[in-house]
Amino acid sequence: MTALESPALPFEPYKTKVVERIPNPSREDRERALERAGFNLFNLRSADVRIDLLTDSGTGAMSDRQWSAIMLGDESYAGSRNFAEFESAVRELTGFPHILPTHQGRGAENLLFSVLASEGSIVPNNMHFDTTQAHVRHQGAEPRNLAIAAAYDPESDVPFKGNVDVDRLAELLATAGPHRVPLAMVTLTNNSGAGQPVSLANFRAVAGLCRAQGVPLYVDMCRWAENAYFVREREPGMASRSIAEIGRAFFDLADGATMSAKKDGLVNIGGFVATRDGRVAERLKEALILFEGFPTYGGLARRDLGAIAVGLEEATDLDYLEHRIGQVRYLAGRLDAVGVPMFKPIGGHGVYLDVRRFLPHLAADELPGQALVVELYREGGVRAVEVGSIMFGDPGPPGARSLELVRLAIPRRVYSASHLAYVADVVGRVYARRDAVRGLTMTYRPERLPHFTARFAPVSPAVEVLPRPA
Ligand SMILES: *Cc1c(COP(=O)(O)O)cnc(C)c1O
Repeated sequence: MTALESPALPFEPYKTKVVERIPNPSREDRERALERAGFNLFNLRSADVRIDLLTDSGTGAMSDRQWSAIMLGDESYAGSRNFAEFESAVRELTGFPHILPTHQGRGAENLLFSVLASEGSIVPNNMHFDTTQAHVRHQGAEPRNLAIAAAYDPESDVPFKGNVDVDRLAELLATAGPHRVPLAMVTLTNNSGAGQPVSLANFRAVAGLCRAQGVPLYVDMCRWAENAYFVREREPGMASRSIAEIGRAFFDLADGATMSAKKDGLVNIGGFVATRDGRVAERLKEALILFEGFPTYGGLARRDLGAIAVGLEEATDLDYLEHRIGQVRYLAGRLDAVGVPMFKPIGGHGVYLDVRRFLPHLAADELPGQALVVELYREGGVRAVEVGSIMFGDPGPPGARSLELVRLAIPRRVYSASHLAYVADVVGRVYARRDAVRGLTMTYRPERLPHFTARFAPVSPAVEVLPRPA
């Protein structure tokens, strides 16, 4: 793999109107915070974090137009004007006739899988996201990851590593049949696999297979606009098409979608589930009222729906997307210059460090991904997240998780290039002293979604502490 070209400074296509002070915890503060948090960075207070790259979910900055929409909230329980704005924005974007708002993406997943999946069914996907996988299992169904082999190779230069392995999908559909496979999903972009895009050609092939077998195809469309950006950049014949047109080309091939508007909806909370199937929509609506709220608000304040309507449109702006993807590439370029191993090509919403090559001296049971996350925080107050055997390590087919990554997710419209340069320095300093990074052991492991609440402790302390004589 050749070095990334010298990274261009991404031009911010916005200027600052409101500011928020950035905390500056000292080294001692950070050591104490790590102890308090049980070495799980989900347990840190934001006041302990200097640069927060834990997630790009709901952490973005809303625009002045979105804040205006918030101020124009119509908080009617039923039939709010904001719902009409939201519904027409989603319908115009996707073409799906039935659109139900939810409090966030996993709310949409809960509804969809409770209606379509059941004990013994199999749900294929290129790669399930953590909450998606957990919701499939919650119904007693089996999540099956069918991404192409290159999706698990951090070094090869393949343009669409999010693609589905069409042969394996065909085999599954032929052997299990539509009665065992109540729906298929494709995640745009593939968050669990380093934010890699799916090509339109691949998606078309998947849709063809599903239609032939009578299996409905749903899109996990959290980062559909970033996916469309890569399609525009890399897929033949797409360069002159708009982001909205490319997105629509995908949606036209699908039967429905789940969405976390905290990603490419550019809001801090919200989501939706959409379908073409009127019968499914009726059942989704019943579940929606039970778990989320009335269909014209779905677990959100009505003003939130107004902000989503504006955000969905802003996410299609090419200046915005160029800056967004440009920021990710800028950080990656600076890391590449000092030899930091990363998953390549660089994806849409963050830089994914390749843990196995970063910390080759740590064995799998020393939790190298978590050890690296802890070390980045210790070094410079940078909060990242492990995307590896802790996040996905619950029982699955052997060898299912062959990627061991640490994600530096970039919030939308929040940090500047100098913040990213700071992050690159911190990662570079840890890389320079990587041989001294020690492993961790898990002291508490919850049954489901363990990464959120697990606790850890350092293994083999540098100085053996002997019990004091009585
Ligand atoms: C964030 C995310 C979800 C879940 O959405 P939440 O809003 O966090 O509940 C589902 N799928 C993917 C790919 C995601 O990135």
